Amino acid sequence: MKETFLGVDVCTDTYEQLAAKLIEDINHNRKSFIVAINPEKIMKAQEDERLRELLNKATYQIPDGIGVILASIIKGGKIRSRVTGIDMMLRLCKEAAIHGKKIFLYGAKPGVAEEAKKKLEERFPGIQIVGTMHGYEKDENVVKEAINKSDADILFVALGSPTQEYWIVKHMHSLVPKVYQGVGGSFDVVSG
Ligand code: UDP
Repeated sequence: MKETFLGVDVCTDTYEQLAAKLIEDINHNRKSFIVAINPEKIMKAQEDERLRELLNKATYQIPDGIGVILASIIKGGKIRSRVTGIDMMLRLCKEAAIHGKKIFLYGAKPGVAEEAKKKLEERFPGIQIVGTMHGYEKDENVVKEAINKSDADILFVALGSPTQEYWIVKHMHSLVPKVYQGVGGSFDVVSG
């Protein structure tokens, strides 16, 4: 289910429901794309039609930001708890480790994704992080080849918003992974 705030869709699902749907998407070979929504993005989308379309193109818009919860309460909607980008990423890592799904980390400064990989491996025993790539490689084909060669199921893209979301929409249909999430500065947080 989705609720709409000033023309921007937001999912009513919890972490548990989303995690189950995302694993199902992988198992059924369906491509899906997660975007984190906060009031700042909703406001920006008011003046930027292309951004609004981009946000609404995502499969799952997660309510990252207390303002979205407040707006839902005021509207008599159902969204009562935040689903943050970083916690969704960590939840997906946990599920991926349980279900044997492979992960690729793309983005952040050189060395950061490798460090995040180490930290995630310590935190989620059995996790398969099959590749990393920093976010300053200019040749898109180099990035895409590395991702496709890794045969990952899940791609986390940390290029900052909305660059990462435009990148995902542009490339997801010619890439191997099934699940895509734009995660902003999350690799910096996880690695630090
Ligand atoms: N970044 C990148 N390539 C770029 C520009 C930025 O990989 O060309 C990375 C940057 O190193 C940082 C992340 O994108 O790790 C952006 O984090 P920020 O917290 O600014 O993003 P937000 O969460 O605000 O979207």
